[in-house]
Amino acid sequence: MDCLFCKIIAGEIPCTKIYEDDLVLAFLDIKPVHPGHTLVIPKTHASTLFAMDQALVKSWAAAIQNIAKAVVKGTGAHGFNLELNDGSAAGQLVPHVHMHIVPRFDHDGLRHWPGTAYQNAAEAQTVAEKIKKNFQF
Ligand code: 5GP
Ligand code: ZN
Repeated sequence: MDCLFCKIIAGEIPCTKIYEDDLVLAFLDIKPVHPGHTLVIPKTHASTLFAMDQALVKSWAAAIQNIAKAVVKGTGAHGFNLELNDGSAAGQLVPHVHMHIVPRFDHDGLRHWPGTAYQNAAEAQTVAEKIKKNFQF
């Protein structure tokens, strides 16, 4: 498969590896926001979160928690962002699902995304209802 991250998993493209087990690989992002910026990927190819097997999502999430702890301790970060860019509209460039762990520092100059406001509580409730009727467990 012509997938950059599958090639990294296969060892065909080098990476600076942080962690690996049977299901998950973590390595340093080649263009870090801050040093220690890490990508955590499932070793089974899936382009998006929805394409992942849910049992694998659970293992991946547990690994992300453990890896984030090590990233924070190892970099001396004051906090961190987890970011999953899913779909091109969300800025996904590499079509193999990956979680960014971005170490953050007090006054590091990065901004939170801008927030808007609902017109009123009824508008928020309408949006909530549209979402709630689409749950499929
Ligand atoms: P996305 O926008 O898809 O969420 O982010 C993809 C990330 O992959 C980017 O932050 C980019 O720097 C990183 N990246 C792209 N190519 C490579 C590569 O060959 N090796 C590594 N380690 N990271 C890469
Ligand atoms: Zn892949």
